Amino acid sequence: MLFESTYKMTIFDVVVIGAGPYGLAAAAHLRTIKGLEFRVFGEPMSFWDQNMPVGMFLRSNWTATQIADPDDQLTLEAYQAAHGVKFALPVPIEHFVGYGLWYQRQAVPNLDRRKIVRIESQPQGFGLILEDGEMVRAGRVVIAGGISSFAYRPPEFANLPSSLASHTSEHREFKEFVGKQVLVIGSGQSALESAALLHEAGAEVEIVARARHIRWLGGLFSRTIHSSLGPKLSQLLYAPTDVGPAGISQIVARPDLVRSFPRPVQDWLRKRSIRPAGARWLVARLQNVPMKLGHSAVSAVPFGERLGVRLDDGSDRKVDHMFLGTGYRVNVAKYEFLSPELARSIRCFQGFPRLREGFESSVPGLHILGAPAIWSFGPLMQFVVGTHYCSRALLRRIAGKTAGNQIPVAEPLVAEVG
Ligand SMILES: Cc1cc2nc3c(=O)[nH]c(=O)nc-3n(C[C@H](O)[C@H](O)[C@H](O)COP(=O)(O)OP(=O)(O)OC[C@H]3O[C@@H](n4cnc5c(N)ncnc54)[C@H](O)[C@@H]3O)c2cc1C
Repeated sequence: MLFESTYKMTIFDVVVIGAGPYGLAAAAHLRTIKGLEFRVFGEPMSFWDQNMPVGMFLRSNWTATQIADPDDQLTLEAYQAAHGVKFALPVPIEHFVGYGLWYQRQAVPNLDRRKIVRIESQPQGFGLILEDGEMVRAGRVVIAGGISSFAYRPPEFANLPSSLASHTSEHREFKEFVGKQVLVIGSGQSALESAALLHEAGAEVEIVARARHIRWLGGLFSRTIHSSLGPKLSQLLYAPTDVGPAGISQIVARPDLVRSFPRPVQDWLRKRSIRPAGARWLVARLQNVPMKLGHSAVSAVPFGERLGVRLDDGSDRKVDHMFLGTGYRVNVAKYEFLSPELARSIRCFQGFPRLREGFESSVPGLHILGAPAIWSFGPLMQFVVGTHYCSRALLRRIAGKTAGNQIPVAEPLVAEVG
């Protein structure tokens, strides 16, 4: 046991781990519970600031890019007014980071930036250790730790040095690749946008992807619906949440409805809504980047300072670097801060926690928000827009457990973000 000592330590009702969109929105909502002692730990917006490239644009629409707040005051428009800046769609990453930091200062001013290095279960809740060794206790823990722990590196490339092969999340800037030959693996937004930025930075880029063709979002079908069939029909098929194709978008916008379907339908809705795809505004930027589609890289061997890569058609490439735009695979056991015993007691399906009402895991008092929640609450939870449903559901659960507090009633998500 890590927490056998009798040191005096701070005790909170709730600790939130993470200060990205989900942790911040959760905190802004928990603040409305009178007398609740809670603390948020984490570096605000760190994933967006450190693990996404400079020059990136958000793919989500304006409405879906707003982080939920209980008073609907902390909007992108309010941020623009407060800072005297103007921007439109697609939202540039630096403004989204600026918005998130401003949101944090308004809603969570007493944020503690320290990292949590360990959580373990205790009879009355949880014990947590901070990076500097301080210990705290909490009755409940809300994990909003994001996806950086889940970056997926295919096993055949796992042992290559990072100077030769790296995950897209490892790069903010591309200056070091000027004049270099770079192979980008993948056909999702991260792979395609990294390829565009590398090309624009002056690298010689080739994309290799298993997909036979790139799926571009906002294609002819959806543009026809949006422009030709009028706003009414378009709104009927696409929810403002901006997740999923025509029709399905309206279903996945309602996590309670998604949860009422049999498991195979839920799985189908999720997979149909978050397939690898690229934003349409990347098409022109990639027109001079060669793409080898319908093929995969099967092996890679270092040759001095370069990398030899073999594709499944037997052809070879010699490059300076390989970018793995191979996405993320949720597995909550990979959150290093969970003690092995606690990780084992979270009931999961293929790495996804099985969550119930209020995003509570099978460990009473342990809540998990964001992308790990997509198996239980649907694909919305992989995006900023999921903060609206999620933080209200969390608030209801925690307020409901706190005697004497009023339980706010959540309204349907579609009405909130529309
Ligand atoms: C390339 C790319 C583009 C994307 N574009 C979009 C988009 O356009 N629109 C959209 O809605 N979504 C987009 N997403 C998804 C996006 O990641 C999520 O919507 C969002 O970041 C989820 O927020 P979060 O709070 O769950 O996690 P994060 O934003 O990752 O935040 C995690 C937080 O946890 C903290 N943390 C982690 N471990 C610890 C610890 N041990 N102790 C303390 N704190 C800790 C971190 O410091 C951070 O503050 C994109 C993702 C990628 C990879």
